Amino acid sequence: MVDVSEGITDRFGRKFEKLRVSLINECNFACTYCVSDDANGRNHLEPNINTAPHQKRLNTREFIESITLVHDIVNLKSIRLTGGEPLLYPDLAGIIREIKLLGIDDIRLTTNAYYLKDKSVELKQSGLRAINISLDAVDGEIFRMMSGNQRMQRVLDGVDDALDAGLDVKLNAVIMKGKNDNQIIPLLRYAGHKGIDIRYLELMKMGHLYHHMDGFFFSQQNILDVIQANYFITEVSRKKSSTSNYWNVPGIGNFGIIANESVPFCGDCNRLRMDSFGNFYGCLSSSVGIPLMKESGNREKTVDSLKRLLSYKQSHHFKGNEMTMRYIGG
Ligand code: SAM
Ligand code: SF4
Repeated sequence: MVDVSEGITDRFGRKFEKLRVSLINECNFACTYCVSDDANGRNHLEPNINTAPHQKRLNTREFIESITLVHDIVNLKSIRLTGGEPLLYPDLAGIIREIKLLGIDDIRLTTNAYYLKDKSVELKQSGLRAINISLDAVDGEIFRMMSGNQRMQRVLDGVDDALDAGLDVKLNAVIMKGKNDNQIIPLLRYAGHKGIDIRYLELMKMGHLYHHMDGFFFSQQNILDVIQANYFITEVSRKKSSTSNYWNVPGIGNFGIIANESVPFCGDCNRLRMDSFGNFYGCLSSSVGIPLMKESGNREKTVDSLKRLLSYKQSHHFKGNEMTMRYIGG
């Protein structure tokens, strides 16, 4: 492997070290911030972008070819598999094994965990190290309203399955004002009871929320105010390139906040993204995708394309994107 990653560094010293792969853009949930219904009840996936219907989802071999192409140039440290819902990808354990064979040991998954029960052991044995489980409520009715799914217990069983398998587990909860902000404390207590960290996410301007968030935005400060009204907290210093700011609650554990809007972390972002059709994106705010495999015979051209993708990163502030998270990979 010829590591030319130092040559693909921008004026802020940023380079690509982590890759997020959206394995599949379909999902069995319809989270209210991720999927919108139009007047006819149809789901919007990605308005106004060039997702030509002729684009075909990659299979495991094609994903691995694309990942290898990039890894040979930038020497990836970590890969997160996401979606859509990655547990719907038919060969999840297989693709994890193939990534591990590339010499990338830090393999992570982001999932709604609905189909996780009884799968964690196999995923861990395949090489999965860590898992982020999205859980926006521990009240069944609020969970249903947030996710469009009635069976919260399946997700809670998924959390236990991942813990029993010895995976490193974190919870993610997107907080929306007036919808699930009353779940902040119950979620914190649930995470503390399970001995895992929870990260609260500020709502991001993605997909149907790009033009307006309808007053649902609940900031890092709002979240801290709710927790501080109940607990004494201390700040934990942020790791370089981390998406979260962390705090500790004595007797409960750590919680984080991903404050993309109010405390942006673009300044040291090291993430590259790939959608399920093989298009690469330099930034969550960019809808310019480059299908790197199409130019794979020409290494210099691939290096130039990676430099171009890096230049699409925001210098400071996340701008949002008309594409939904489940298309570009959250
Ligand atoms: N389906 C999986 C899941 O929900 O964990 C993986 C894909 S999902 C797009 C990845 C993460 O993006 C989830 O934690 C989800 O809550 C988050 N997400 C999606 N849309 C979002 C938005 N508009 N603002 C903030 N977070 C969002
Ligand atoms: Fe599906 Fe994840 Fe989007 Fe929810 S956030 S609809 S689980 S892709």
